[in-house]
Amino acid sequence: MDELHWQSLAVRSGIRRSPEGEHSEALFMTSSYVFDDAAHAAARFAGDAPGNVYSRYTNPTVRGFEDRLAALEGAEACVATASGMSAILSTCMALLKAGDHVVCSRDVFGTTRTLFAKYLANFGVEVSFVPLLPVEGWQSALQDNTKLLYLETPSNPLCEVADIQRMAALAQAADALLVVDNCFCSPALQQPLAFGADIVIHSATKYLDGQGRCVGGAVLGRQALMDEVLGFLRSCGPTMSAFNAWVFLKGLETLSLRMRAHSASALELATWLEAHPQVDAVFYAGLESHSGHALAAKQQSAFGGVLSFRVRGGQAQAWEVIDATRLMSLTANLGDAKTTIVHPATTTHSRISAEERQEAGITDNLIRIAVGLEDIDDLKKDLARGLDAIG
Ligand SMILES: *Cc1c(COP(=O)(O)O)cnc(C)c1O
Repeated sequence: MDELHWQSLAVRSGIRRSPEGEHSEALFMTSSYVFDDAAHAAARFAGDAPGNVYSRYTNPTVRGFEDRLAALEGAEACVATASGMSAILSTCMALLKAGDHVVCSRDVFGTTRTLFAKYLANFGVEVSFVPLLPVEGWQSALQDNTKLLYLETPSNPLCEVADIQRMAALAQAADALLVVDNCFCSPALQQPLAFGADIVIHSATKYLDGQGRCVGGAVLGRQALMDEVLGFLRSCGPTMSAFNAWVFLKGLETLSLRMRAHSASALELATWLEAHPQVDAVFYAGLESHSGHALAAKQQSAFGGVLSFRVRGGQAQAWEVIDATRLMSLTANLGDAKTTIVHPATTTHSRISAEERQEAGITDNLIRIAVGLEDIDDLKKDLARGLDAIG
């Protein structure tokens, strides 16, 4: 498998063909496994004989998904989890202890902030939030007990781009681990481990599925680190279901095709929006006007499907544009074949203070779109209806 190109790995890696000779990957719906005899059972339980014991520990379909995703991220090992949030939680529970300190980007998924600020804080893990940019902010937040640096790039919803290589050097110098949530790009567009990140997090719910069906997640990195994460999972239970693993495993086969289509449509829509008289600003790293354009072009093979823009006016005008759409789905989810539209200030970012929102650039006239796989002309028409009305 090592000599295969990325797209071949997406289709061919992680296959565990059963004696039935099935061509498509089998779905192993079983909670437990049988042993040949009592001695065999004892050896499996002791870890002396390889093989499955119980699906909280391992399952062949889940393993297939893990192996395939590991091949695509260039990771030694992968641990699949019940959701993206449980991927983050499992990483923290396995690798942190009371008294440790985390530096986390301010510009991460809202629930990730809650996980760090509320739940981990309850267990004596200290956290500092810093803006994703510039790197100097991270530098000055470091402490002697800093164990983890956590970020998403590109960020949500303004598509800011962090220099993974620089962040990895910073983490290494501080004897801390760099964790990158690679949800927005997926390994089809960006492989953070190749730039020196220690751990990659996924919400498989988004692009890995790509059709909005299942909730799942994954953690990837060096074998020794993933052994720790798997240890937590085995004992504490946030494992991925075999059914969901099967959906994600098949999703990976078309991931690159979909990501390129999402990216091409997003770039076209961003370019069109930038020229619209009722649009004040467009945030998409594929645009040359974006401050992260050069870095994104170096770090990513395309710019992804998420963009945001500010309409002329305030919340009323933003809502009017959103409410005038008939095709796009009004939902906070992303990474779906169906285009989604949302007003961040009153939904995904409503729980942070108005002051913090202002600082982070989440203004009341900002709209986020996760571009799906519909025809681009229909998407433009859907937005033009509202944009022309507020003009
Ligand atoms: C959705 C999301 C998560 C959480 O994933 P779930 O599968 O919903 O638990 C984490 N990070 C990012 C960037 C996300 O978009």
